[in-house]
Amino acid sequence: MEIRNFKYIPMKIALKNLMTLKIQENIPLAPYTTFKIGGPAKYFFIAQTREDIINAIETAQELKLPYYILGGGSNLLVSDNGYDGLVIKVATAGCCQKENMLLCEAGLSLSQLIMNAQKVGLGGMEFMAGIPGTVGGAVYGNAGAWGREFGELVQEADIYKEGQIKKLSQADLGFVYRGCALKKSGGVILNIAIMLIKRRAQDIQKEVVEII
Ligand SMILES: Cc1cc2nc3c(=O)[nH]c(=O)nc-3n(C[C@H](O)[C@H](O)[C@H](O)COP(=O)(O)OP(=O)(O)OC[C@H]3O[C@@H](n4cnc5c(N)ncnc54)[C@H](O)[C@@H]3O)c2cc1C
Repeated sequence: MEIRNFKYIPMKIALKNLMTLKIQENIPLAPYTTFKIGGPAKYFFIAQTREDIINAIETAQELKLPYYILGGGSNLLVSDNGYDGLVIKVATAGCCQKENMLLCEAGLSLSQLIMNAQKVGLGGMEFMAGIPGTVGGAVYGNAGAWGREFGELVQEADIYKEGQIKKLSQADLGFVYRGCALKKSGGVILNIAIMLIKRRAQDIQKEVVEII
């Protein structure tokens, strides 16, 4: 497990962040969920980079605001009362290939991830086709289908927790049916590495079409 420390954000900077991070106020959450219901977030922020995610969390912590990490909103029912804190919408969507691995950010959609894998001739996650949501949500809930689970593919993940970025292995992530250790221990998934297998793009496409 690799650990890196982040600097503590003092109150003055936290207040400045609240204004400069493009944190919006009183934003309806319904459009950000699959079920299209629910009230507004007191504060709402779209994080485009890892640093955005960390800054937003530290800002919320400094201001003693509760915060909630939102992925694709496909496994979420928001109350009509909304959320009295900061909702951080993870919209980081980077993805690159390293041999048989794809390194991707938490906000990447699963559908885009499958397409990216197909483009570079990497298969093995076709069983995830049709599952909505993001990489972060899929790790958090160990999404799966057809008797298989996303956690099988995840080799490691960078997690932000308590002011540090920790690199957790598949074993550290403790995948169980529709969950992982982060549900108990906390921590925000920033990016992950998944191990795939070489496969012809047309074979991947055929299987994906059959599934969805
Ligand atoms: C039509 C439909 C079909 C579905 N089919 C399946 C299926 O076949 N198999 C299956 O397993 N699920 C299925 N689901 C459920 C859902 O798609 C999955 O649970 C999905 O993985 C949720 O991802 P999300 O990005 O939408 O997460 P969200 O709904 O945004 O969040 C879910 C949870 O994950 C947490 N979270 C999100 N991102 C992060 C992050 N970066 N770090 C830490 N925590 C995070 C959130 O805080 C929240 O607690 C389905 C849902 C729908 C609506």
